[in-house]
Amino acid sequence: MNKGKRVKVIGAGLAGSEAALQLAKRDIYVDLYEMRPFVSTGAHKTDKFAELVCSNSLGSYDITNASGLLKYEMEVLDSFLMKIIHNCKVPSGGALSVDRELFSSDVTNLIKNNPFINIINEEITEINTDEPVIIASGPLTSEKLSSKVKDIIGEEYLHFFDAIAPIVEKDSIDFSKAFFMNRYNKGGNDYINCPMNREEYEKFYNILINSEKIELKSFEKNAKFFESCLPIEVLASRGIDTLRFGPLKPVGLIDERTGINNYAVVQLRQDNKAASLYNLVGFQTNLKWGCQKELIHSIPGLENANIMRYGVMHRNTFINSPKILNSSLQTRKNSNIFFAGQITGTEGYTESIATGLLAGINMARYIEEKELLNLPTETMLGALTHYISYSEHKSFQPINSNWGIIADMEMDRKTRKDKKLKNELLANRAIKTIKTFLNKI
Ligand SMILES: Cc1cc2nc3c(=O)[nH]c(=O)nc-3n(C[C@H](O)[C@H](O)[C@H](O)COP(=O)(O)OP(=O)(O)OC[C@H]3O[C@@H](n4cnc5c(N)ncnc54)[C@H](O)[C@@H]3O)c2cc1C
Repeated sequence: MNKGKRVKVIGAGLAGSEAALQLAKRDIYVDLYEMRPFVSTGAHKTDKFAELVCSNSLGSYDITNASGLLKYEMEVLDSFLMKIIHNCKVPSGGALSVDRELFSSDVTNLIKNNPFINIINEEITEINTDEPVIIASGPLTSEKLSSKVKDIIGEEYLHFFDAIAPIVEKDSIDFSKAFFMNRYNKGGNDYINCPMNREEYEKFYNILINSEKIELKSFEKNAKFFESCLPIEVLASRGIDTLRFGPLKPVGLIDERTGINNYAVVQLRQDNKAASLYNLVGFQTNLKWGCQKELIHSIPGLENANIMRYGVMHRNTFINSPKILNSSLQTRKNSNIFFAGQITGTEGYTESIATGLLAGINMARYIEEKELLNLPTETMLGALTHYISYSEHKSFQPINSNWGIIADMEMDRKTRKDKKLKNELLANRAIKTIKTFLNKI
């Protein structure tokens, strides 16, 4: 049935390389387009495929860590890049880190020697929507391609810059201090509020203005922040009270338990359907992660908060996946078009390979006229693809694998409080679920 069918894969990065190999494994011919070395992204340094642009670490390889579980699931799904990662490992404790040169050389050679993959070193500037295509052009998608993607998905659904606020796990918030309430009691009690007195606010402010920022890359320096989306440290630099009259304003937020008029209030907004994750409203930031941790833990009620995602600000092309994609990574409007990698709003090396893997498998199933795989939300990859395709955000922001997105399971309070044990239970269920799921198809 797949005779003569060719699939275009745009971008031989982490996602595109894995997707191309998955298609080839199923005897489907691939035209793999990569613009490097003729057009540069500004961050890549070589002409090799699957180049790691920054760190050489792919994070944990322990299943009680969300990223570690995702890796295990990718192995169950027979990821090519995971095998290469193991061959290029360098010692780094519990993490999986690689010799980056060896890794991208091995991926490049595997692809070059694959008879089903035709490599074309060219910048894609047009997309024929009548042909099957996987768009895996990454966070630094070329401008010309970005404008074509806009034409396909709609102008308002493509974003160019991440301005992300940190996310914390609700179970780790101290509700003897925090309270649920909407400003002026309007609507339901949707927000979690962390009140501060003057002394607490001044301590918080001092930590903030003395925190170190992450240096922007040269190609990001000209990025303009919207006034309504300014980093918290930029607001703080305008004066000690700017935040109290901005995102931390206390008006209309009196804790009924105390009746106290607070000096400042940090609000947290629900971030996922299961209400297990909350983001800090107005806290988009470019502070170093260690500083963010200190700052968040200085907020009353968040002293022991588990930070599931840190705030970041960097150039990042990504689509508004909840409006565009199904959890199979196929677009809702045009069944020929799939997206994979960081452009889908999944963040990180491992996540990029994982979505490339799923997009490759599902594109093959589409060509073979088989039902597409929508992985169960009890698995980390299923939870991730479900999150990006069904999140109810007004302003969707990228996310990496984390325990807050995976389907909850029954457990007693004591187990729930024991992070390691809880994650172990969730991980074992995920592994069982993915194996059962694959046996059934
Ligand atoms: C500067 C930077 C640093 C990062 N550091 C880390 C990190 O340390 N750890 C981490 O986990 N994640 C990191 N990320 C996030 C992310 O994991 C990586 O960007 C990852 O490489 C994304 O994989 P991808 O396959 O989606 O895109 P990429 O690996 O970037 O691959 C996309 C490919 O598409 C090509 N391309 C783009 N436009 C076109 C076109 N029009 N025609 C043909 N080819 C095209 C590009 O040249 C590129 O090779 C970083 C991101 C950036 C931007």
